[in-house]
Amino acid sequence: MRTTVGIIGAGPAGLLLARLLHGAGIDSVVLESRDRAYVERRQRAGILEQGTADVLRAAGAGERMDREGLRHDGIELRFDRRRHRVDFPALTGGRSVMVYAQTEVCKDLIALQIEEGGPLLFEAEALAVEDASTDAPRVRFRHQGREDVLECEYVVGCDGFWGVSRKAIPAELVQVFERTYPFGWLGILADVPPSHDELVYARHDRGFALLSMRSPSVSRLYLQVPDGTDAGAWSDEDIWDELERRFETADDWRLERGPITQKSVTPCAPTSTSPCATAASSSPVTRPTSSRRPGRRG
Ligand SMILES: Cc1cc2nc3c(=O)[nH]c(=O)nc-3n(C[C@H](O)[C@H](O)[C@H](O)COP(=O)(O)OP(=O)(O)OC[C@H]3O[C@@H](n4cnc5c(N)ncnc54)[C@H](O)[C@@H]3O)c2cc1C
Repeated sequence: MRTTVGIIGAGPAGLLLARLLHGAGIDSVVLESRDRAYVERRQRAGILEQGTADVLRAAGAGERMDREGLRHDGIELRFDRRRHRVDFPALTGGRSVMVYAQTEVCKDLIALQIEEGGPLLFEAEALAVEDASTDAPRVRFRHQGREDVLECEYVVGCDGFWGVSRKAIPAELVQVFERTYPFGWLGILADVPPSHDELVYARHDRGFALLSMRSPSVSRLYLQVPDGTDAGAWSDEDIWDELERRFETADDWRLERGPITQKSVTPCAPTSTSPCATAASSSPVTRPTSSRRPGRRG
């Protein structure tokens, strides 16, 4: 198999890159180790910053986002039981963010890729990048039980922290910047309308908490928890009690409870690799807030 750009990983980075290359008339092949259903339901980011939303629109992938996404013009910071609103458009000359889940971005990009783009192979695990420092790099991969080789002019590693691409960067070119935080994020999805119409970031002596949402009827909430915390050790009631404590205000604001449909703990170990032989997230391991720079988590 041969292509101009071999892309490893069909997360948002790999899929968007394939879309942008297609728009520029450059052929590519995307290899993704997981199946389509898994990629489309893997819960991660929920907030798109304006620049990301603009790129998706320009790539022809913003139609459903603009129809179903929720534009947010601010956030609330909460501490000492007081509430402080940050008005984005007023402070940034009109910019805002979009609440639109990463799962939906991936669904949209996958549908477009299958309809209009080059090959996108699911359950195709890249095993190694060979001859990475030559003009003819190759990706060895396994698909449908068989080993195959993808011959490329360029290989772009969009396979995150645990993928094979990082290992293919010649050691003398790698510089790793790392800061490990001694805590993780206990994240839940709950079938309950968000208790506030914008994201709420709460600082509390017991730890940070975030109120976010996936839709007008689904809430996404996070608690800062000690490293190594087992999500199963927290009952649903414990989680709601702790969220209530950290979000408490001096006024009559109330946190609405509902059935928790998903809960997991994500460790917080941001790593960045330079130079960027890997695209986008060189680390899928969680940052405290946003993916690209300190900022937002949704
Ligand atoms: C719980 C959580 C919440 C988050 N919230 C936010 C947020 O609110 N805002 C924000 O901006 N960011 C957030 N992030 C970060 C954001 O999800 C990542 O930055 C984003 O997923 C990175 O996209 P990516 O395409 O680079 O990597 P990934 O999404 O990790 O995709 C990598 C892909 O490569 C595939 N792969 C791996 N190894 C191989 C292999 N050997 N062969 C083939 N395929 C392979 C994987 O299956 C995967 O599909 C969050 C992350 C987490 C975990």
